[in-house]
Amino acid sequence: MKPVSTFDSKKMRVREEIQALDAYRVVESEGLIKLDAMENPYSWPKSMQDEWLEHLRGLPLNRYPDPNGQRLKQTLRDKFDIGHEMEILLGNGSDELIQIVQMCMSTSGSVMLSPSPSFVMYEMAAKFVGAKFIGVPLESDFSVDLSAMRAAIKRYDPAAIFLAYPNNPTGNLFDRAAVDEIVRTSRGLVVVDEAYHIFANSSYYDQLGLHDNLVVMRTLSKLGLAGLRLGFLVGPKTWLSEFEKVRMPYNIGVLTQATAEFALQRLDVFEQQAAQIVAERERLFTVLANTTDITPYPSQTNFILFRSDRLPATELFDRLIEQGVLIKNCHQSDPALEQCLRVSIGTEGDNNAFLAALEKCLA
Ligand SMILES: *Cc1c(COP(=O)(O)O)cnc(C)c1O
Repeated sequence: MKPVSTFDSKKMRVREEIQALDAYRVVESEGLIKLDAMENPYSWPKSMQDEWLEHLRGLPLNRYPDPNGQRLKQTLRDKFDIGHEMEILLGNGSDELIQIVQMCMSTSGSVMLSPSPSFVMYEMAAKFVGAKFIGVPLESDFSVDLSAMRAAIKRYDPAAIFLAYPNNPTGNLFDRAAVDEIVRTSRGLVVVDEAYHIFANSSYYDQLGLHDNLVVMRTLSKLGLAGLRLGFLVGPKTWLSEFEKVRMPYNIGVLTQATAEFALQRLDVFEQQAAQIVAERERLFTVLANTTDITPYPSQTNFILFRSDRLPATELFDRLIEQGVLIKNCHQSDPALEQCLRVSIGTEGDNNAFLAALEKCLA
């Protein structure tokens, strides 16, 4: 056996904030119905899979990818109506874009801000870059507390504000007028994160260009390509040309560029799947709303947050795993999420299995 290093953690010179962090944990899901990570549950039609494999044949893996992803960006422009007055920044998932933005914006003492609870990466990235993170509590119905936001913006003058629109893990869309006011009163950058736009009935995208400090972020993950890792940020050149400097030149590989282009050419397949997911979400919501001791929260996403009113959330979570269903336990992640769990929308079969398991657990 090799000797185990006994290097003292104090001597390691790894920053104390990093040593104090818990690494992002992914729960083991093998053999379980996986409804914990907002993944699209549908696979591709067989003919599309075959065409894709054909498309990949002969890709030059010995060469570096196009550092600018020109063709992919043009496809994104065509499919999402992105005009040439806006720039696009490609990221290895929007997680990387959050990190890039924060790397550019943080100086010691600068503040990153978002409503809370929201997407955990905003806070994690702030810790990575040594910025201070401020979470402004949402109202009890998960709407934005505008007066608290106003006060926090005034007090901290955040370098960047992150607004998930719709929000994760609560599932709701913030009031548009509230977002307008946040963008208007902030002297820093506002990143509107539209990871779930395909499932929502509103987008902030049409406001791009109307505010100097607004950028909009999207991802292909929730659309059905979580395994691919492609996010994109859209905004004015003044911002994006700065962010571009911090992006590693080959962050989007040959396989990702080719596959994303291929998939976007067939966007209608994913849009149809998203429509099915939305229909299932509405069905699931109605059943949950009629389930004793369960309170679901309205959702504009591909998941539903719900509160367990009798059985402790952690017990319900464990019992669901015994029944073969993995969802997400949000209890203890934030005071506002006490006894809350989050279920991603699966196929009709997955959802029925979840409902049957839930009924058993609550019996
Ligand atoms: C899932 C999620 C993301 C992360 O997307 P990736 O592109 O997979 O990194 C970003 N923002 C929100 C709000 C999310 O829920």
